[in-house]
Amino acid sequence: MYNAIICRYHEIATKGHNRNMFERCLVDNIRHQTKAVAPCKVQRVRGRVWLEPKEERDFTPGEVAGLCTQLKKVFGLETFSPVVKLPVDMDAIREAAVKMAPEALKPYLEEKERITFRIRARRSNKRFPLRSQEVEIDLLSAIDRATGGGHLQLDLDNAEVTLGCEIRDEFSVLFWEQYQAPGGLPVGSNPKVLTMLSGGIDSPVAAYMVMKRGCATDYLTFHSSPYTPPETVDKVRGIAEHINSYQTKGTLYAANLAPLQKLIRDCCGERFRTVLYRRAMFRIAQMHAEKCGCRAIVTGEAVGQVASQTLVNMNTINRSIDMLVLRPLVGADKLETIRIAEEIGTFEMSSVQVPDSCTVFAPSSPSTAVPVGLAEAEELKIPDYALEIEKIVENIEKII
Ligand code: ATP
Ligand code: MG
Repeated sequence: MYNAIICRYHEIATKGHNRNMFERCLVDNIRHQTKAVAPCKVQRVRGRVWLEPKEERDFTPGEVAGLCTQLKKVFGLETFSPVVKLPVDMDAIREAAVKMAPEALKPYLEEKERITFRIRARRSNKRFPLRSQEVEIDLLSAIDRATGGGHLQLDLDNAEVTLGCEIRDEFSVLFWEQYQAPGGLPVGSNPKVLTMLSGGIDSPVAAYMVMKRGCATDYLTFHSSPYTPPETVDKVRGIAEHINSYQTKGTLYAANLAPLQKLIRDCCGERFRTVLYRRAMFRIAQMHAEKCGCRAIVTGEAVGQVASQTLVNMNTINRSIDMLVLRPLVGADKLETIRIAEEIGTFEMSSVQVPDSCTVFAPSSPSTAVPVGLAEAEELKIPDYALEIEKIVENIEKII
C-alpha cells in the first residue's frame, strides 16, 4: 500500500548559495534513474525529495522493489523509505499501521516468537493533539494487539524492526524500512572527467568514486591491436556499460597504443618500457580529454601496487602532462577496492582474464624507479614522438 517514497540527503543540505543547483541536479538524476520503472512525480519539498505515482494510486510491490534498486544508484541520496501517505488523523494512522503490521513483521516472526521493536514518531505539526511519545504508545499497543500480543519487545536502541511515523502539517506518513543510498554528490554537479579504464579491478572503482563526487565521466581504454585480441576492448565495453548505469551517459573511447609501443620497444631501454607506455597513455588521455571537454583524468592507481606505481614512477608518469589527475584509490587497500568492486557489480567482469595493453612487449623486470630526466632522454630517442602521439589521438575510436 505504499504510495510515495521519501528521499533524504545530507551533504547537499550543507551547501550554501548553490544548494539549489545541487538539489535540481539530484532531482534530475532521480527522474533519470526511475523513469523506466514507473511514471513518477518527483518533487523537492523542504529538504526532501518525494516520489509519487503520476496518477493517484499506490505503487505496486514490483514498482517499489524496482524503484528501491534504482535509488540505490543515485549519488547525493543518503537514505530513502517507501512510505504510506495518510491524512493528519490518529485514527487513520493507527488503522494503516495495524493493517500493514502483519505483512511487515511476518519475515521476522516466521523465524522467532519474539522480536525487538520500536516506533519512532516525529511531529512537526504542533497542532496535532498527541505528542510524539503518545503517538508511539498508541501505535505500539494497537500493533501489539493486532499481532496476537506478546510478540513485540520494546527496544529503543537496537530494535530489529522500526516503524517510522512523521506527522506534518499537510499529511502524515508511516514507513517500515530505511534503505541506505550511496551518498556523495549528484552526478553532473561537477565538471566531466575522463577515466582511463582498463579491464582491471581498480579503474572501474575509480570511475565510480569520481561519479560519487558529482563528476560525469567518459572513458578511454588502450588496446594494442593486433597484439591484443578484440576481447580486450569487448571486456572494457561491458564494464563501461555496467558502470554507466550510475550516470546518465558516458562515452567509451579506445586508442591503439601498439604503434608507439613498437617504437618504444625498438628505441628505448627495455626496463623503462612500462613507464614510457604510461607516459604516452597520459599524454594521449590529456589531448583527448581536452577535445571532449573533460577537466581531469582519473586513474585507478594506488601507491605501491605495481612497478609503475612506486612514488618515483608515479611522479615520472605524472610529469608527462599538466592536466589534473584524480586518483581516488591512491590510499586504498586492495581488499577495500575489491569490496567496492563486488558491491557495484564489476568484480566478476574484471576477473575475466584477457590480454592487457600494458603487457605487450613488457619487460621481465621493469624498473621501479625511473627518474624524470631519464624518461625524457629515452623519449628523445624515438623519431617523431610527438607526431606518433598525435596520430594515435586522431585515430581514437568511439565504442559506446
Ligand atoms: P586496474 O586494475 O585498473 O587495471 P592495475 O592495478 O592493473 O589497475 P595498472 O595496470 O598499472 O594498474 O594501471 C593503473 C591505472 O592506469 C589503471 O587503473 C587505469 O586507470 C590506467 N590503465 C592501465 N592500463 C590501461 C589501459 N589498457 N587502458 C586504459 N587505462 C589503463
Ligand atoms: Mg591494469
